[in-house]
Amino acid sequence: MSESLLDTNVLVLNRFFMAVRVIDVRRAFTLLCRDCAEVIEMEEGAPFQSYDFESWCELSELTAMDKQPGEEYVRTVRLELRVPRILRLTRFEKMPSQTVRFNRKNLFARDENTCQYCGKRSSSAQLSMDHVIPRAQGGRTSWENIVCCCLRCNGRKGGRTPKEAQMKLLRQPAKPRVNPLMEQSIEDPRYTSWRTFLPTGNKN
Ligand SMILES: [Zn+2]
Repeated sequence: MSESLLDTNVLVLNRFFMAVRVIDVRRAFTLLCRDCAEVIEMEEGAPFQSYDFESWCELSELTAMDKQPGEEYVRTVRLELRVPRILRLTRFEKMPSQTVRFNRKNLFARDENTCQYCGKRSSSAQLSMDHVIPRAQGGRTSWENIVCCCLRCNGRKGGRTPKEAQMKLLRQPAKPRVNPLMEQSIEDPRYTSWRTFLPTGNKN
């Protein structure tokens, strides 16, 4: 079982088919087998289908015999389970959170893994989180004061403000209105099925 596949993303809809958050595949399977969610499966040119855990297992068994491009599977003891890309919550209803959680993954997604000083795009391992105004000068740890920064620029900037270090931000950091992970669907073919459910025109 591929570790990285379990870490990829699944879009979660509330009962009204509104996109509310993004979770990893591991968590998606947990929700699914606890009967808290159903899989929404999009097939080209057809209305979408929904599956509970049992019927998703059946479907997986069936389609695993004749895998199509774009389908991904994780191997369990009993069967090859197809990786869902959209879940809809069925049982409990948490209010859709309006606030995007501040964490490394979301921050890097907001900045598109691009250093906000030199504009170089890198893998997450090659990037760090930079306080624009250093904490020592009263800078807060917030969406508005943290940017994605390559290791080289981070070293160059040190504990200084951009002005002191004579470095310029590509853009003023702001709190995203929509979970930036949801916007991955624009680029990653894995998440194209999300588009139907995402609000449009949120890209800053
Ligand atoms: Zn840089």
